[in-house]
Amino acid sequence: MDYDTYGSTAVELAIALANADLEPDDGVARFLAAHDEWFTPGTSLELSPADAQKAAATGRLVREVALAESQPDVLTRLNELLALARPRPYATDHDGELHLHYARPDSPALEQLTTTVAMGLSQVVVQHGWQRLGACSAEGCDDVYVDTSRNASRRYCSNTCASRSTVAAYRARRKV
Ligand SMILES: [Zn+2]
Ligand SMILES: [Zn+2]
Repeated sequence: MDYDTYGSTAVELAIALANADLEPDDGVARFLAAHDEWFTPGTSLELSPADAQKAAATGRLVREVALAESQPDVLTRLNELLALARPRPYATDHDGELHLHYARPDSPALEQLTTTVAMGLSQVVVQHGWQRLGACSAEGCDDVYVDTSRNASRRYCSNTCASRSTVAAYRARRKV
């Protein structure tokens, strides 16, 4: 899986948004500040409360796409997410590499966020399959992930959860 392109890294922003705790009043603001490299320099990252709720709703939609268990469900949820996007691709080499961005560079932060997230997630789903998305199998963790492993064998959101589960399974076996 070619993972070195903007389109594929944008899916990581989608996954991060789905896993972020956006419930607190400043949840969305903190998320945007932590991911400010995704926004055109100079974009105001201060969202109105209504826009912050829309950003949180986008995160929930990403999560629903990742949790969908059939292709029809994936399509319905993905199209709901894509309906929020306002794609207007433009080419840039701001980081030294020529690549495409999905959102209008002078669009507001919410539009940049929803467009990048929706397009990034969709690209991965149509190119690599919706089975690449899943929810962590570790106990007590319900984070979603995108599986970039060659054989699509991933079950955990992170190495932390994977090793935590391995240790737990080992201890459980020793008890028998
Ligand atoms: Zn870029
Ligand atoms: Zn996990």
